[in-house]
Amino acid sequence: MMIDAAVTPQAIHLKDYVAPHYEVVKVDLDITLDPKSTKVINKMQFKMHGKDKSPILLHADSIVLDEILIDGKILDKNAYQLTDKGLELSEYPDKFELTVVNHFSPEANKALSGLYMSKDMYCTQCESQGFRRITFYPDRPDVLSTFTTTIRASEKEYPVMLSNGNPIEHKKLDGGMHQVTWKDPFKKPSYLFALVAGPLAEVKDSFQTKSGRNIELAFYVRPEDKNRCGHAIEALKKAMKWDEDTYGLEYDLDIYMVVAVSDFNMGAMENKGLNIFNTKYILADPQTATDKDYQLIEAVIGHEYFHNWSGNRVTCRDWFQLSLKEGLTVFREQQFSDYCGSPGVNRIEQANLMQTRQFAEDSSPLSHPIRPETYIEINNFYTLTVYEKGCEVIRMLHTLLGDKGFKNGMKTYFERHDGQAVTTEDFLKAHADANEKDLSQFSRWYRQAGTPNVQVTGHWNAQANKYQLHTKQSYRPAVGDKTPKEPVVIPMKVELLADDGSVLFKESVLEITKEDQTFTFDGIKERPIPALFSDFSAPVKFSYPYHNHEYGVMLKHSSDPFTRWNAAQKMIIETIEHLAKQRTNKKAMLLDSEVFSDFEPVVAESFDDLNFKALLLTLPTFGVATQALPNVTQTVLWEVYDYFTKFFSAKLCDDWKVLYAEHYAARKDDISQSASGNRQMANVSLGHLMRCDENAGAEQALNQYQNAYNMTEKMGALNAVNNSHHEVRKQLLELFLEEYQSNELAMDKWFALQASSTRDDTIDQVKNLLSHKNFSIQNPNKVYALLNTFAHNERHFHAESGEGYQLVADNIATIDKFNPQVAARLASAFSTWRRLDESRQAKVKVILKRLLDEQKLSNDTFEIISKTVSD
Ligand SMILES: [Zn+2]
Repeated sequence: MMIDAAVTPQAIHLKDYVAPHYEVVKVDLDITLDPKSTKVINKMQFKMHGKDKSPILLHADSIVLDEILIDGKILDKNAYQLTDKGLELSEYPDKFELTVVNHFSPEANKALSGLYMSKDMYCTQCESQGFRRITFYPDRPDVLSTFTTTIRASEKEYPVMLSNGNPIEHKKLDGGMHQVTWKDPFKKPSYLFALVAGPLAEVKDSFQTKSGRNIELAFYVRPEDKNRCGHAIEALKKAMKWDEDTYGLEYDLDIYMVVAVSDFNMGAMENKGLNIFNTKYILADPQTATDKDYQLIEAVIGHEYFHNWSGNRVTCRDWFQLSLKEGLTVFREQQFSDYCGSPGVNRIEQANLMQTRQFAEDSSPLSHPIRPETYIEINNFYTLTVYEKGCEVIRMLHTLLGDKGFKNGMKTYFERHDGQAVTTEDFLKAHADANEKDLSQFSRWYRQAGTPNVQVTGHWNAQANKYQLHTKQSYRPAVGDKTPKEPVVIPMKVELLADDGSVLFKESVLEITKEDQTFTFDGIKERPIPALFSDFSAPVKFSYPYHNHEYGVMLKHSSDPFTRWNAAQKMIIETIEHLAKQRTNKKAMLLDSEVFSDFEPVVAESFDDLNFKALLLTLPTFGVATQALPNVTQTVLWEVYDYFTKFFSAKLCDDWKVLYAEHYAARKDDISQSASGNRQMANVSLGHLMRCDENAGAEQALNQYQNAYNMTEKMGALNAVNNSHHEVRKQLLELFLEEYQSNELAMDKWFALQASSTRDDTIDQVKNLLSHKNFSIQNPNKVYALLNTFAHNERHFHAESGEGYQLVADNIATIDKFNPQVAARLASAFSTWRRLDESRQAKVKVILKRLLDEQKLSNDTFEIISKTVSD
């Protein structure tokens, strides 16, 4: 029979966790590949822990059972039961070999979970619950076993066949078939299982570990992409060396394999010894990848490699602990990116992501703690909260313990739990023990959803030369979040500046632990300007009653990149807010010229890190403005935002011309930091130029595109004209299409660009692009590029007519029928609807309720939409 797990959505709770009463000592898989009917023979050695003889659940989803045997004997029908979850084995001895034979169709699997086909190759994605779509198995992360996998297929069509571990046998068979056997000596949960087969080209390299072992590195890509994985290979070697030098962690198997796949729901997957990557995080050459793409490849390669310890060697006990491996590994990845590039720029980008996207998630109906207590579909918890906020919590721990203390804690954690499936409590206990520190209050970060608010006020006592900072922490709970909130530990990095920019008090960490707290600074001889939460030292919303000139001082003089950038952004947002008030009160819009005079010195300043300068001169996006000013209606805000950005660019127009000429002239054809900094400065200046002198900007954009050395310059030209009605936009889009139509990754950029435009005709353009010959609704990268980008286009997704909502909802209904994970991710764009005005809220509500009523939604999408509209 066909097991179909998608019946009635049921919530799963952390409090119901029960450890398995058995062990799967080893697993032998024998898989004969066939697009229509792949056959699996799965032999598992079971051993009971004690007297408990409750039924053993073998999960299954969308697969057909052919035969089941215990110790070679066909099992009596009474000894097991098939349910909507899988197979329940109720009669069994203390120790036995269970053999299950089953089949399924990889070709029909469009959910891209389990074993599926991407064009002419087979590949797998088992995290979190894909293994049950391959065979009957206790598919839970706390069941660890060693796997031996034999794969059989036609040698001509599938010359390369890979699985986890080391290859131990290769045999030619009759009828043009061949088979290979892989053995993974490390115990692992089933979510780390992987299999790949196809006509792939191999690119080889090697790495010598610190103990002198030689590791073979093998990358598998389509033959035409063979010359595009050099950057990824170098990144891998750098990451392996970095993890040895920083955490003393060495790679364990003899071979490390990476495969690139174009149909993939996620970014990449850390399967033991056989990483599977979305092509966009492997393939790069100057003509198709931007500087940002190069950085992302380095980061993602590092991330998946670091999982070999934080995730694979020490794994999660259950899926509620997802942040245990993800938050920690994102932090390790961020440390690695700082080592490879610019820590200041990285930190600003991370803070920006937190402040705009994660804070929005954390105040929406989808808000959840980094260790959730309950879920319907775990795939919905691969969120910014679990990953990015989870990482910020690890970063705070690092700040509180210091680098040395944190490394000691990590050493204890890996030594104590190697080969185990553990919890976030185990992780914190290792750090607490290694540092003799009480982390019980700190652990609240794992349990409490929502973003803490820290209100700060200052008082300077001139007679006593004393300055006091008063902090008040509180939570504004999200809709429906009724759990009580207690004060958390918040490390606040503070620097005190004088009016002339000199330092009155050097940056230090203050520990906020209470609801109300006062910190006193002695010997402060003038009223200081407090630069708060330098380096974005905690994932909190903070406020302080700054004057505009104080923002100016921080922007010009702070030693901390985040403080400088944040002051610039705050100053602009407050100016836009002021304009919106004038507009709402029907007054003429008047701009304070102080804003511009504070930017002039930045324009003139010379920077070692030009990427940082470019960030300081980049205006907040309209999306950022809508997040920051939820009380201004969207229509008014757009009008004011458009007015302000044009005014800002115009005010400094001569400067943009000079900057553009200078940095364009300095361009070079390499990916060094200084070359990428010059490109970034040229691109930012070109964007401003396009707003203040459209014809001059358009001419430069066309010239830059036609003479570009690389993709960063081409995308810079396209981005500059993307919101304009000038004919050059159409011309550049056509040139791009002509050049790149056969390159999938480049075409993703082309779709995303048009979906993100603020031009009035964007909705119609997106509708037309849905039937473009290069678009495929079954390919996740294409859906994310066109539809997910559109769903985050604040201006048009929230069009007053409701047309934007309808467009996205219709496509969710279509995609949900074959790929629930992708549909659910798209659906989460609706989660911030409560901050909208009444008329828009009413439209969202009608459209989402209709989806719930009229469609038979998957668990994934049902969970997101029902939570989003629930009261
Ligand atoms: Zn990860």
